[in-house]
Amino acid sequence: MEKVVIIGSGCAGYTAAIYTARANLEPLVLTGQMPGGLLTTTTIVENFPGFPEGVDGFELMSSMQKQAERFGAKVKFGTEVKSADLSSRPFKLETGSGTIETETLIIASGAGHRHLGLESEEKLENKGVTYCATCDGALPMFRNQPLVVVGGGDSACEEAMYLTRFGSKVYLVHRRDELRASKIMAERTLANEKIVPVWDSVVTDILDPAEGKVTGVKLKNLKTDEESTLDCAGVFVAIGHVPNTQIFKGVIDMNDAGYVIPKDGAKTNIPGVFVAGDCGDPVYRQAVTAAAMGCMAAIDAERFLAAGDA
Ligand code: NAP
Repeated sequence: MEKVVIIGSGCAGYTAAIYTARANLEPLVLTGQMPGGLLTTTTIVENFPGFPEGVDGFELMSSMQKQAERFGAKVKFGTEVKSADLSSRPFKLETGSGTIETETLIIASGAGHRHLGLESEEKLENKGVTYCATCDGALPMFRNQPLVVVGGGDSACEEAMYLTRFGSKVYLVHRRDELRASKIMAERTLANEKIVPVWDSVVTDILDPAEGKVTGVKLKNLKTDEESTLDCAGVFVAIGHVPNTQIFKGVIDMNDAGYVIPKDGAKTNIPGVFVAGDCGDPVYRQAVTAAAMGCMAAIDAERFLAAGDA
């Protein structure tokens, strides 16, 4: 029987682990399929306090893991929770490799990449369509080729700038005529000579006449309805995220978009279940806010156990 199980190993999960471990609760962290969370797919994180020169996303997450383990957190890699019985305590979590029982649960399962929803997108995933420039940008098939990034937020700008290292040109296709990204990111992106913004446009199809290799995208201008084709060897989709909360649907209160909005600190509608990070935050979604929410969830779990409610 665990005292605390943390689902997720991003900033929220590992911060919750550091705090609950320091409270001698020996938390069990289930990393899921993406150990370290979304930050491991980014390059330099420039806005996490304490790193004046910035810090590599992967390095930051490895350090958080080591810090949590130093105080006694147990990290289980690759274990995914398939379903959860939260009807009574101890809670029961079904994983592919058995049932885990726990007195409290911290959901820090983060968010996954939002997809465009095109058939061709699904068919060509990993054949030129990707959701992570840091992971895939350096692949030979993208070198010195025109590339397309879809989106107008910080992620899209970051992806576009990173890809200028490899592509001959980077088209930034956005459905409006101004970027949603922070001012500093937007300015840097638009000042980059290799980045060509394509405003008011959406990708309606991804082309692969040779079957299995992206050669271009079909675009539609939303203001003029004009359709066009743009040659490219890769499509990097960066249009936001969807919270990883599906397994709790119908059990834990969530908003229409699937975010578990915390109440009164990090609490959910089920006593003993807490939420932290991107899966509970449709507004800020920053590394530092996720870490802060992880801290709140840990303190709430600790107080819940100390009060003897479990
Ligand atoms: P985001 O801010 O939600 O932006 C998503 C972008 O995709 C928006 O421009 C949106 O268009 C567009 N979009 C959404 N659905 C679409 C669709 N179906 N088709 C076409 N376009 C679509 O997401 P994000 O860029 O991933 O950022 C998420 C959070 O992480 C933000 O809070 C951001 O500040 C943070 N972040 C920070 C950094 C950094 O500081 N270094 C880096 C990455 C992310 P509209 O603009 O029209 O809505």
